[in-house]
Amino acid sequence: MIDGAELDRAIERNKEAVMRELGDFCAQPSISTQDLGMREMARLVVRALERRGFSTRMVETPRYPAILAECRGQGDKKLLFYNHYDVQPPEPLDQWQSPPFQPTIREGKYFARGAMDDKGHLVCRLAAIDAVREVCGELPCTVKFLIEGEEEISSPSLEGVIADNSRDLEADLCLWEFGEVDGEGLSMQYLGFRGLLYVELSLQTLARDCHSGIWGSLMPNAAWRLNWALSSIKGMDERIRIPGFYERVVPPSEEDLRLMGDLPVISEAERSAMGAKGFIHPYSSPAEFYEKAVMTPSCTICGMGAGYLGEGQKTIIPAKAFAKADFRLVPDQTPEEILDKLKRHLDAEGFGDIHVNCLGMIYPSRTPVDHPYVRMVAESARDVYGRSQRIYPMSGGSGPAHYFRKHLGVPIMTAGVGYLGSNIHAPNEHIRLADFFNGIRHTARIIADLGGGLDG
Ligand SMILES: [Zn+2]
Repeated sequence: MIDGAELDRAIERNKEAVMRELGDFCAQPSISTQDLGMREMARLVVRALERRGFSTRMVETPRYPAILAECRGQGDKKLLFYNHYDVQPPEPLDQWQSPPFQPTIREGKYFARGAMDDKGHLVCRLAAIDAVREVCGELPCTVKFLIEGEEEISSPSLEGVIADNSRDLEADLCLWEFGEVDGEGLSMQYLGFRGLLYVELSLQTLARDCHSGIWGSLMPNAAWRLNWALSSIKGMDERIRIPGFYERVVPPSEEDLRLMGDLPVISEAERSAMGAKGFIHPYSSPAEFYEKAVMTPSCTICGMGAGYLGEGQKTIIPAKAFAKADFRLVPDQTPEEILDKLKRHLDAEGFGDIHVNCLGMIYPSRTPVDHPYVRMVAESARDVYGRSQRIYPMSGGSGPAHYFRKHLGVPIMTAGVGYLGSNIHAPNEHIRLADFFNGIRHTARIIADLGGGLDG
C-alpha cells in the first residue's frame, strides 16, 4: 500500500525539477497549424520519457508524428494517458502581457502558450510518475502514453494511429488530455463529449449583384433564400425541425439526473458578465439546466455573409449568400446521419439549390457513469481537494474521445491542472501553480489507486 502523505512529500522535493521541465516544454514553440517547432518539441517529449525509462515509438503520419510510450509496472492494470504536444497559434501577440513562449510567473499564475493546453498536463503526469516511483520503487501499474502532434488541427491521423496500434494502447483506464477545477476549487470529472457536424451552406441566385429597384421585384435574392432555409432548420422555440433529428438521442438516465442535480449551475453573475439577458431555455432545477446545456443537441449559426456589408447604403440584390453552422450532437447521433438528414430536409423544403459543404465531423462519446473507475478517480481527489470530484455525465464541448471508445473500449476520465479562467486558445493562457501541484497530487493518487490502492 502507498502512503498519500509520502507521495506529497516526494512531489514537494521534486518541485524545482518539475518547474524546470515545464519551463523547457513551454519555451519551445510547437504550433501545428503553422508548422513551427514541431519536430523539436517531439524530440523534447521523447527525451523526457526515455529519461524515465519509457520505451518510446514515433508513429509517422502525413503531418506530425504521434508518440507512443510505455513503462511496465508491477500489477496487471494499465493506465493510458492521452496528451498532445502541439499548441494553438499565440496571435494576437499584442494582447499578451508577457511573450507567449517565455514562461512567466505573476501572482501565483504561470503564463505561457500551452501552460494548460496541453504541456502543463503532460508535465503533471510525468511529475506524478516520478513521485509514485520514488515512493514505491516501481510503478504499481503499467503506464502508457499516446501523445499526438495534431490535436489543434482536429486530429486527422488519430483514428488511424489508435486503430493500427490498438494492442499496444490497450488499457483499463484512459485519462483525457485535460482536467480542471471549478469556481469553488473542486475537481471536475467529465464523462462525455458532444459530437460535432460543421457545415457551410451556400447558394447563388444570380450571375452578379444587381440594382434592387430595377430588379428587386423580379429577381431571386440569395440572402432571403438562405434566411428562409435557416428558419426551416430551427424555429423560434429552439426546436430543430429536421425530420428525425432527435430520433437517436439517448435521454439522461436516472443516475445522470441524480449526478446533474448535484452540480452547481452557472450563476446569475456569470451569465450577466456574458452580457446575456437570459438563457434561451428556462430551467427549474440543476438537472434540467444540464440536460438542456449538454445532453441535448444544438444547432448554432456561427457566421453569415451576403450582399453589401460596408458603411452606409448600397441598394442591391445579393447574388450569393453563405452561412456557417455547427450541430453539437449527443449519443447515439452520428455526424453522417445528421448531414444526410439535413440535406434531405433542405431538398424536401424546396432548397435543393443550397449547397451543403461539410467542414468537420466529430462523434459524440460517453463513459458510463456506473463504470467502477469513475468512483475510484473521483474519490482519489478527496484528500487533495477536500471533496471527491464533481461528476459531469457530459460536457458541452467536443473531442476525439470516440476513437478510444470505439477501438480500445477504454473508459475515459478527466483529472488535471486547469481552471475555467485558464484562457486556453486565447492570449495570456495560464495555470495557477496551486492547481498544477494539486493536479500532480491527484494524478499520483490515481496511478497508486489503479495499481492496488493507497493506505487509509
Ligand atoms: Zn486546445
